Amino acid sequence: METDSCSIETLIKTDDPELVRRSARPEGTIVDVNGIRIGGKEIVIMAGPCAVESEEQLTETAKSVRAGGASILRGGAFKPRTSPYSFQGLGKEGLEMLERARNVTGLSVVSEVMDTRQVETVARYADILQIGSRNMQNFPLLKEAGRASKPILLKRGMMATIDEYLNAAEYLLSHGNTQVILCERGIRTFESSTRYTLDLNAIPVLKQRTHLPVLVDPSHGTGIRSLVATMAKASIAAGADGLLMEVHYKPEEALCDGSQSLYPEEFGMMMEDLRKVAVAVGRTIHVL
Ligand code: PEP
Ligand code: MN
Repeated sequence: METDSCSIETLIKTDDPELVRRSARPEGTIVDVNGIRIGGKEIVIMAGPCAVESEEQLTETAKSVRAGGASILRGGAFKPRTSPYSFQGLGKEGLEMLERARNVTGLSVVSEVMDTRQVETVARYADILQIGSRNMQNFPLLKEAGRASKPILLKRGMMATIDEYLNAAEYLLSHGNTQVILCERGIRTFESSTRYTLDLNAIPVLKQRTHLPVLVDPSHGTGIRSLVATMAKASIAAGADGLLMEVHYKPEEALCDGSQSLYPEEFGMMMEDLRKVAVAVGRTIHVL
């Protein structure tokens, strides 16, 4: 029987890079982070501030996302900023704060690495190394992170095609790191009413073409707080394995991305809705 040109078969039969392609592991990859299984039936929520700013900001935000049902705390210590005059992150001091927040809350930690020289340090403190959108094709960084012993959260380049994205992930796998999580975070389009255009297509496309878990970041994908919860729900309905979200205990005082950061109460309310959407698509949200 002939398959139609839009069928799942068509997507699976592409000549995607050999290690990331779906057929290399038809059952799917599960990335285990301290017993939290990413890529399985359970949906995993990662939340926290864009940047680590202070002990109080991080601890208070961490407690609130934990109370709301997140399993993993996000927070950048090394921040990629458009302007060299913007807050660049607290560096190692920020990593130490993340470690303390993990001890207080029991949340695991994801934090960004921007430079090959930071990989070892960030890997000492964080449970997952984030490679940001701007570095998706930083090949020396991909090679170095490929040799790291911690899982990698590889965000999609804001101007990267799915082919380029899969090849970036292939760099990690081919250098020895099989613990790779993908994250759609919005792409640049002609549309200027939102910060980026969240590519919901990418979720089923990636799920069909690769065995790696697929997360969505609706915070950067929209850039607008009032749109985040809706797109988070849409992402779960479309098959995402988890979400990466920005939450700040005082968004109006945030040094980075305050206007897309949820208030803790909003995060809690959104989580109630997400639980229902998860059940509707045959899944549940991981609870610590
Ligand atoms: C972030 O997660 O804070 C971040 C900088 O994201 P992106 O790399 O997707 O812009
Ligand atoms: Mn941010």
